[in-house]
Amino acid sequence: MRILEITKTLDEWAPQQVAWERDNPGIQVGYPGTELTNTLICMDVSDSVIEEAIKRKCNLIISHHPLLFLPLKRITPETDRISRYISKLLKHNITLFSYHTNLDYTKHGVSFQLAKKLQLEGINFLEPLQGGLSKFVVFSPESDVEKVSEAIFGAGGGVIGEYSNCSTRNEIKGTFKGSNNSNPTLGAKNVFETVKEIRLEAVVYDWLIPSVIERVKKVHSYEEPAFEVYKLQNSHTNFGAGAKGTLKNEMSTSGFLSFVSKSLNAECLRYGFNPPAKIKKVAVMGGAGQDYLNKAISEGCNAFITGDIGYHRFQDSENKILLIDAGHFETEVSVLDEIRERIISAKGFNKNDNMVFVAGSNAFNPVKYYNKRSGE
Ligand SMILES: [Zn+2]
Repeated sequence: MRILEITKTLDEWAPQQVAWERDNPGIQVGYPGTELTNTLICMDVSDSVIEEAIKRKCNLIISHHPLLFLPLKRITPETDRISRYISKLLKHNITLFSYHTNLDYTKHGVSFQLAKKLQLEGINFLEPLQGGLSKFVVFSPESDVEKVSEAIFGAGGGVIGEYSNCSTRNEIKGTFKGSNNSNPTLGAKNVFETVKEIRLEAVVYDWLIPSVIERVKKVHSYEEPAFEVYKLQNSHTNFGAGAKGTLKNEMSTSGFLSFVSKSLNAECLRYGFNPPAKIKKVAVMGGAGQDYLNKAISEGCNAFITGDIGYHRFQDSENKILLIDAGHFETEVSVLDEIRERIISAKGFNKNDNMVFVAGSNAFNPVKYYNKRSGE
């Protein structure tokens, strides 16, 4: 199995098209056309992560954060850490593939894993992604309907939430009259024809429309297949920001803080003053999610957990919500196990030939905490 076959599967789960427009997910460095050996998954590339990849014979590293984010103007491994990593990766024939905000915005991605870690029930997006959805409609002779719909589904169309192969089919009457230069599949040129057809329609992500059209044209028997694409106003069911859910049992503020600290293995929690007394409905966002504070409040959540929260946001949360900064790393790291599961269950992946590791102690948190009481 080649590396790009795995990265294609990972892209299908968390498409690069849903990432923040200035983000840089995808292949960062390396040789995606080569045969895969073993895979190492980490939060960030570091010297120790590369050492571990070499030791475990991994020629693919998957990091949550992209290595290349700001424009790289020179490669100077002696003085710059990014250059040093690139140089080491290339020297050891290691390919680096990164996620980032596309995984933050994907169902069962960063925020969903955080919500699961906190045992929330009825998990859904805090703010589903708007836009980026179209309706693809194609008019097909009855005999072609199965292969045309397979072409749509094969390109990734017809997905609604946990359901795939979603389509609508209506019997209609189509008319046409071919010109002198036409070559009609049904009827004859220069003759007005009326034929029974199926109006076949499916929801398709915008970025998949070109591939759907290409595949449909290949299998449709008409010289000029008729199709239409409409923009939809619907929210996405599989992509969005943050997550929300409810605790099985209501907790006190102090009980909830203790629970969060234990569940996320977070050494330090920063939290806002005058929080609500009882916590039941909870919003979360992995990484730096403070901009969604008002959304969490407007959704009636009693607590909002994210990382990298600024001083004034804690003031904004007063009397409205328990705002918790559990750390950037701590709110994101649980997604690594999910990435591993996705690779292992990918079509064509052979567990006996290719091992998948989550970087253990090497997937380290770059932020350390000083504890005043223990002096550590
Ligand atoms: Zn992050």
